[in-house]
This record gives sequence, C-alpha cells and structure tokens, in this order.
Amino acid sequence: MDITKLWQETLLLLEKTLTDVVYNSMIMKLSPIKLENNTLYLSVESSFFKTAINSRYLYDITRCVRSLTDIDIEVQIESPNDKTTEETIKFAENYAKTNLRPKYTFDTFVKGKSNEMAYAAALSIAEQPGESSYNPLFLYGGVGLGKTHLVQSIGNFALEQNPNLSVVYQSTESFTNELIYSIRDKTTQNFKNKYRRCDLLLLDDIQFLERTVETQEEIFHTFNTLYNENKQIVLTSDLPPKELGNIEKRLTTRFGMGLIVDVTLPDYETRAAILEKKLHLERLALPPAVKEFIIRNIVSNIRDLEGALNKVIAYARFTNTPITLELTREALKDQLEGAEKPIITVEYIQQIVADYHKITVEDLNSRRRTKDIVIPRQIAMYLARKIMKNVTLPQIGAAFGKRDHTTVMHGCEKISGELEYDAKLQDTILDLERKIVGEE
Ligand code: ADP
Ligand code: MG
Repeated sequence: MDITKLWQETLLLLEKTLTDVVYNSMIMKLSPIKLENNTLYLSVESSFFKTAINSRYLYDITRCVRSLTDIDIEVQIESPNDKTTEETIKFAENYAKTNLRPKYTFDTFVKGKSNEMAYAAALSIAEQPGESSYNPLFLYGGVGLGKTHLVQSIGNFALEQNPNLSVVYQSTESFTNELIYSIRDKTTQNFKNKYRRCDLLLLDDIQFLERTVETQEEIFHTFNTLYNENKQIVLTSDLPPKELGNIEKRLTTRFGMGLIVDVTLPDYETRAAILEKKLHLERLALPPAVKEFIIRNIVSNIRDLEGALNKVIAYARFTNTPITLELTREALKDQLEGAEKPIITVEYIQQIVADYHKITVEDLNSRRRTKDIVIPRQIAMYLARKIMKNVTLPQIGAAFGKRDHTTVMHGCEKISGELEYDAKLQDTILDLERKIVGEE
C-alpha cells in the first residue's frame, strides 16, 4: 500500500469531517512515516500537538483511514521531540495557572448569525495574540450567549499554538478578590506579576468591577502596562463600554479603543445546530419531534437550551422511560411556565398521535395500509387540519411521506364523518387534542 497516497486520501476525508480550524491548525501538521504491522505511524513536530490530537481526533483519523483500507489499521502518532514526563508536567503546571477549562474550544463552539463577528474576531486574536489590531477585544451580550466559551477558546487555542505563552483567564469577581487578599497579605507584587506580565489576559464579566478606588486603579495600571507592551487583552461584559455606569470614564474609554463586538440571541438554525452538536459530543440521540420541541420552545439563551437538554435526559434516566414528547414537556414544565404555548407543527402532532397509538412516526409516513396504521394516520391528518392555522392540505400531505393533498382531504373527511356516530373516536380525538394543545 502506498502510504503517501493513503494519507492524502485520508486528509480529503478528514477535511470534510473536521472543522476548518482543527484541520488547518492540527491535522495539517501531521505527516505519514511508515505503515508497519497494520499500524500507520504519523509524526507531528510538537508533543503538545501529539497530546491534543491523541485525545481529541485519533478516533476520527482512525475511522477515516479504516474506511479506505480492508484491514483494521491502528494509528499511532509520534513526535520527534517527544516531551519527557518532566516537560509534560511543566506544561500541565503552566496550564493550571491559566485557569482555563479545556472543554471551551473553538471546535465545540457553533457559529451562527448571532455570534459570527465575535467568533471571527476571537479566532483572529487566538492566532496572533497581541499582534492583531483588535486590542482590546471587548465582547458583550446577554447571559448564556457564549461569551465565556469564546474567550476561553482564545486562550486554549493560543496555548495550543504556543505552549509557552503566558495566558491568564479570570472572572472580574475573582480578580477583585485576589487583589483584596493580596493587599491584606502584603503580596501585591505577586498579584502584579501575574496580571501585568502575561501575554494574554482574558478578563470575564468586567461589569462586576467594583467601584472601589483600588480595584479601578489596579485595572487601569494593568491595562496600560499590557497595552503598551502589545500584550493582548480580551474583556467581556453584559453591556458595551459606554453603558458601564459603574466604571470610571478613563477605563471605559480604554476598553473601547480596540474592537467592540456583541453576541446576540441565537436564531432557530443556530439553536438547532447547537443542540445537534451537544448530542453529537455526548453521543446521544433524540426523536426528531423532541428536538423540534426543545429548539422551538427554549429560546432564552444557550445555557437554558443546554439545561433543557440535560433535564430531559436526566428525567428519562430517573424514570427509566424512553424520551417522548410527553416526557419532554413534563420535564421542562417549570421552564415553559408562563412562556408561550408550544409552537405546534405537523411533526409534533404526528409524534403525539403515534405515541398514543404505540406506533412510530415512520409508520405514519410509510406506505403501509394496514388498519392499525391507516386510522392513526388519518387522525393525525385530521388534527393537523383542525389545530394548525395557516397550514394547507398540500403541506400536510408533504409532511406525511409526500402524499397528495387529495389523500389528506379524504382522510380528514373520513374522520369527521365517523366522528358523528363513533363515541370512542370522539374520546380519542378529544384526548389527543388536549395532549397537543397542552391542557391537562
Ligand atoms: P456567557 O458567558 O455569555 O454567559 P457561556 O459562554 O457561559 O455564556 O455559555 C453558556 C453555555 O452555552 C456554555 O455551556 C457554552 O458552552 C454554551 N454555548 C454558548 N454558545 C455556544 C455556541 N455558539 N456553541 C456551543 N455552545 C455554546
Ligand atoms: Mg460568562
């Protein structure tokens, strides 16, 4: 087997599988060495990359290689200057000082309209901290919209590029507390060394900066020292600099000197993409109607979206029942309270009707014509027609496995005809309507 060719083809697959950032910054750094005993040996310059690739992308690489060969090839990554244990420990120590969390990276962050500017600015800074014209980067927006995730991604990425970089991530609250303790313990020099000598300072939630003279004075000097030495500063806040009434003017002016970008509420597509990403990362699956329900109803912010997902999963585990729409609604009852009624879609109605008859949505949309499927199918069509405003017969038909609108019409007429004399059907329809509209 030609190893160069194998690797080139693997790269083509990986390019499609991984994000651009990962592909360009990590995978491109790999080169094939040899193929021996069913093991493909790849090499990468820095052992830091080796660790990063091994922990996160080895699975994808192996999968792609295997899809191109008949044998189950193992992949092993080597590094010519493989770090000694000592160096690994040193890196771990350096990393611990940064206060970063490894899970916040650009590859776990979903780009959308609401954050694309912020994402682009963050990435460009991460690639060249201090050298960009975005100094400081001031990121603002409401709670739970990904500010902390983005600024930590900058730190993690920059360190991946250059493990010797001195990065400090801190919440403004902890910054203030540290300052107060250092004054009390007479260790202000340590404090100054930490914040005024780093290469990249990520200060989160600057709106919590205390009004006290010492704190504002300290930030002022930290800012000036770093700025004058072309060290990168990134700040986040819930409001733009001008609106931070609690902070001295000389500070807010400085905060606004670089680039100010906001993150806003995610739209439907972004919420959907984020939910998919979380499911993928956790290796979980949800019925389509449940996903749809969560995406449509949890619109406040991304933290709530994640919270809703976790809650549904926990609820299903504790009650040891499958995740259905009903369970989802029950699990999210508190979160949905006072909110608008759930937005009803044809898929949503199909799911409820299918669950009720103990069949699946696929059954409803299939070509099967047995009675146990046909009747629920007609009921679901009838209910879609009755409950949903602004939906046309052709639209309903399309949702039921691309059926013709005349089929829908026939189904609806059949049910309304039978409703006149069939008391059991009347009960069923009433029951289902209650479930769909969400009244107990
Ligand atoms: P903020 O700091 O703006 O209050 P966070 O960064 O803490 O928000 O985000 C809240 C949660 O939502 C975190 O778990 C974060 O990982 C997740 N999150 C936010 N934005 C995104 C995104 N675009 N893609 C993936 N996860 C996101
Ligand atoms: Mg935050």
